[in-house]
Amino acid sequence: TAKDDTRGVRGRVRVAVRLRPRNAEEAVADADLPDCVELQPELKRLKLRRNNWDSDTYEFDEVFTEFASQKRVYEVVAKPVVESVLDGYNGTVMAYGQTGTGKTYTLGQLGEEDTSARGIMVRALEDILADISLETDSVSVSYLQLYMETIQDLLHPANDNISIVEDPKTGDVSLPGATLVEIKDQKSFLELLRFGEAHRFAANTKLNTESSRSHAILMVHVKRSVKGKDSALSSENGNASHVAKMLKPPIVRRGKFIVVDLAGSERIDKSGSEGHTLEEAKSINLSLSALGKCINALAENSAHVPVRDSKLTRLLRDSFGGTARTSLVVTIGPSPRHRGETASTIMFGQRAM
Ligand code: ADP
Ligand code: MG
Repeated sequence: TAKDDTRGVRGRVRVAVRLRPRNAEEAVADADLPDCVELQPELKRLKLRRNNWDSDTYEFDEVFTEFASQKRVYEVVAKPVVESVLDGYNGTVMAYGQTGTGKTYTLGQLGEEDTSARGIMVRALEDILADISLETDSVSVSYLQLYMETIQDLLHPANDNISIVEDPKTGDVSLPGATLVEIKDQKSFLELLRFGEAHRFAANTKLNTESSRSHAILMVHVKRSVKGKDSALSSENGNASHVAKMLKPPIVRRGKFIVVDLAGSERIDKSGSEGHTLEEAKSINLSLSALGKCINALAENSAHVPVRDSKLTRLLRDSFGGTARTSLVVTIGPSPRHRGETASTIMFGQRAM
């Protein structure tokens, strides 16, 4: 798709690639093999090795090497989205990639011992809390898991089948059954994330599945009271202006920030899988491909974004296109063994551009 900077600001999804460092095992086992990718961050390019001689080159909005800091990833990928949410728009940050490539590290790392490791969720809340006024504004959070087309409330596990309500007039999406917790400080937000994670683990143990098979969704609702600006009429003279200010109710601005830690994009191996794994695979394929189609429609500036195909895309409906901003981070690993999965992740990101 042709690149157009004005369109890149709103509408089209911004796509970044992030490579994680080799882990200890990969460093030892494949010590003599080169990484399956080579990054040229200054050119925003990535080369995917085909063999020892050839590689294919791809361009992205941003390319993060294994040395990119969490701070920098936040600032490039998420901060512009957070700023637009503070201005009353909706915005989404998503991470897509094979299990083990750094989606949760990028989005959900708490960084309690080492604050430099904090991920996008924690940094976003820090920026939001710093910007709003706790007297007149509010931040409330829901934390959900979407598994096999069922939405579970990670903050109140008994709510295990939450429905999506769409306003037919405005297209606004809401989840009336989801717990909404007002956040006043960073400490309570960290507690909420820990609580949600613990329930996610417990719920998945009970279902005999892994968290990599479900999407984790954090929704942050920001409500601000903005004083009505003096209109031309009210500023005609001092008196009128004074009266107008007294009568003018504050304008309420609402923005919604959604962070989606997507299910692992890897093909699920059918051999040796038990019970519902094939069903899980189908469900994940359905939602990830529905998401891909919506993102591609945005990339092509198509009038029709097919949001109805999955719960994931219905949930994101009012955060797609229009005035909403969306950033996608595709996470990849360096191992030559995962070249195939890495290639398909890169292609997902390319189609989104
Ligand atoms: P995913 O959520 O995609 O399955 P994780 O975020 O759990 O993957 O990452 C897998 C492992 O790799 C974790 O131990 C994580 O701490 C580590 N990791 C991922 N990305 C990075 C990175 N950029 N720098 C350092 N460690 C990372
Ligand atoms: Mg994860």
